[in-house]
Formats: sequence, C-alpha cells, structure tokens
Amino acid sequence: MTRLVIENAAVATVDGAGTEHGSGHVVVEDGRIAAVGTGVAPADGRLTTRIDGQGCLVTPGLVNTHHHLYQWATRGLAQQATLFQWLTELYPVWARLDDLAEHAAASAGLAWLARSGCTTVADHHYVYPPKAGDLNAALVAAAKRVGVRLHLVRGSMDRGESNGGLPPDELVEDTDEALAATERAIAEYHDPEPAAMVRVAVGPCSPFSASERLMREAAELARRCGVRLHTHLAETLDEEEHCLAQFGRRPLDYADELGWLGADVWLAHGIHFDEAGVSRLGATGTGVAHCPSSNARLGAGIAKVRALLDAGSPVGLGADGAASNEFGGLGEELRQALLLARLRDGPDALTAREALWLGTMGGARCLGRQAEIGSIEVGKQADLALWRLDGLGHAGIADPVAALVLGPLPPLELLLVGGATVVAEGRVSTVDDDALRTELETANLRLTNGTNGANGEVPS
Ligand SMILES: [Zn+2]
Repeated sequence: MTRLVIENAAVATVDGAGTEHGSGHVVVEDGRIAAVGTGVAPADGRLTTRIDGQGCLVTPGLVNTHHHLYQWATRGLAQQATLFQWLTELYPVWARLDDLAEHAAASAGLAWLARSGCTTVADHHYVYPPKAGDLNAALVAAAKRVGVRLHLVRGSMDRGESNGGLPPDELVEDTDEALAATERAIAEYHDPEPAAMVRVAVGPCSPFSASERLMREAAELARRCGVRLHTHLAETLDEEEHCLAQFGRRPLDYADELGWLGADVWLAHGIHFDEAGVSRLGATGTGVAHCPSSNARLGAGIAKVRALLDAGSPVGLGADGAASNEFGGLGEELRQALLLARLRDGPDALTAREALWLGTMGGARCLGRQAEIGSIEVGKQADLALWRLDGLGHAGIADPVAALVLGPLPPLELLLVGGATVVAEGRVSTVDDDALRTELETANLRLTNGTNGANGEVPS
C-alpha cells in the first residue's frame, strides 16, 4: 500500500458544507483520499511519504468540461473573427488533421492544462477527416502519456454546406458512419469504474453542423449505452438566427425537441438563453460548460452563470479549444469566470468560493462524476492540486481561496491524479517540455502548410 500525507497546508475541500481548514492535512492511500482534517495527520506506523504544505493551499484537481485539444496546433489564427467567421477560416486548416498532429497537440494541451491545476479533461473532438488515421487512439495515448483523466467526447458533423450547414462538405461524415464510429469508441474506450482514466461521451458538434437525425439518434445511442451527451448550444446570436431560419425554433427549443435536455447532458457555452430557458435547464438538471475566456475572445457574449446556478443547473468551467483561447489553461478560468459574472450582474454575482466550485464540483457534476472527483472527501479519487501561495504574487492575502482565484495563478507545488504525481514544483513530471514544443511546432507547420502525415507512428 502506498501512503502519502500532505500537511501544514490550508485545505479547501469544496464538499457540500464548504469545509475549509486553515492548517490541515490530506491523507492519500492507494490513489484515493483516506482522511482529511485540521492539524497534522494522526500518527500511523505505516511507511508514509510526508509533504510539508506550509505556505500552500490544497484544492481538488480542476475539471475541464469543454476543450478541443487538436486546436493547440492551430492557435493565433482568425484573430478578429466572430465564431462563424473563425470556423470558416479554420475548417480548411483542420481538414489536414492527422493522428500525429492530434497526438502532438493533445499532449501539449494536456500538459499545459495540468500545469494550471487540471486533473480531468473533457475533449470534444468532432473533426474526423478521411485518411486522418486513428485520432481517438492518438488522443487516448496523449492522456495516458501526460497522466490526466480524459473524457473523450466522440463528436461528429454530418451537415455540410450543401445541406445548409456551415462546414465544407469534405469535412463532414456520413450520418450512419458517424453513429457507428461513436458506438465503436464507446465499446473500445469507455470505462464506467470510479477510478476510470478514460470515459466516452456522445457529442454531435452543433445545430449548424449536425443534422436533426444525427442529434436525435446520438441521444438514443448515448442512453442505450449509458454514457453522457454533449454539444455546443446557444453560443452566439448567429447560431440563433441559423436555427430560426433553418428549423423555425430557437436553439434550446430545438435541442429539447430532439431529446437533448436532461441530467445526462451538458451543453458547451449556453450563453443566449432567456429566463424561461434558464429555468428549463435548471428543472431538467442540464449542465452548462461555461468557457469565459473563449467567449470573450470571440465576443460571443456572457453566460448567465448566476441565474443558471440559482435555477439549479450544474455549471462547470471549460478552457475551450486553444484556437479560441490561446491561454489554454483552466486555472485562469476561475478568475475569468468571476470577472465576467460580475461585469454582467454586479459585484455579488459570484464569490471566489463559487468560482472554485465551478472549476471543481460543478465540472464533476457536468461529467456525472460527483461521487468520484471534484471535492476532497474520504473515498474519492486523490485528484489534488497543491498551490504555492507564499511567493510575491500572493504575499499578504490572508484568505487562500481569494489568493488563488483573485490573484495571479499560483505555481503548483504538486498535482496528483489518482495519487500519482503529474506536476511537481511547477514542472510537468510525466513529459518533457522541449519534446512537446518540437512536436507541436512540427504539427502546426504541417497543418498550416498543408502536408498530411497521416498514419505515421504515434508515440505512446
Ligand atoms: Zn467548443
């Protein structure tokens, strides 16, 4: 049995009562949390690794509910664009995606997320060009390489330009093939166990790139297989106009009619809902992946986070793809979510502790993992972030949660996923930064210059 104790640290458990310890301990045994409390850990005769957390804050590892990791290879493009302009410029670049680029981009993106305190990542992957190689295998290999939990959202697009959709026809899949491939991904990778490192969800991309039949049958498939459902919804007013023109309904009514509201669904962005829509999301327990930096980068609008929380909708945070959020970390989104909520609804719209809840328990609820991750409670997975708060960036801030959320993102002393070290003293310990950078630069050149290296050897 491996046993590890973190002590002398402030602890924000994010449990149901919001329990915090000014100086406390967390005990990890066999990848799970065995004890948490005030003061030092009780003496124990067993062999134990002790970590002195003096000057640090322990929080649950952060949960990223919406990302597109492949976009790490296509950052910095379409800088002054709306979502639809941005997509139209990027689709032809993404059409060159292959398994090598996917592996490089996902490895770099996951390592960067880990450096920002993130231990679980939902990656919504919806670009499957012909001859791209095995993109899911490349993604799963990258998550294993970095050592974080992955929710592989097998996305899909089947409505190209000739059918009234936004993406070019050559980038969309046949409806039946997309559904069959999604079912294969579930069979191959979905692990329902509490300690699962890989789970699969079903994720047709958006109302303007997926057909009604794909949306409806994807929901049926997910429920038949017992996995969760995810899509983009109500991100922009352009989308709303598109839905009204093409389907005669606003995005939420359209989604509702196709079976897309429920406690097994989480929606990316969820900005343009009216009051009645917010109530419906709350009443059905439908989750929202709030992506504040990406929404600001594309000028899409500000989600009604306060109203969604009050209505009872689980809200988690997402970094979103790095092509619309070049910053790319999740820790920074705690502050960004707080700032945008207050810009929208005033200074009492969101507290620092609520921002931390969004990034931890809120995300765990979106992913259906609230019994396993998202808080520091006995029996849960030991996904823990130990933030160093005794440097210049946080000196003199007495409240450690305020220091984390309102101050600069602190250096990570330690990041554990299932008790295993992924970040130590600010460096990702599972992968080499220089190797990742070289792989990423190569992938970026291939995608932007138009050479496809599909079916090369993907390192594992
Ligand atoms: Zn997205």
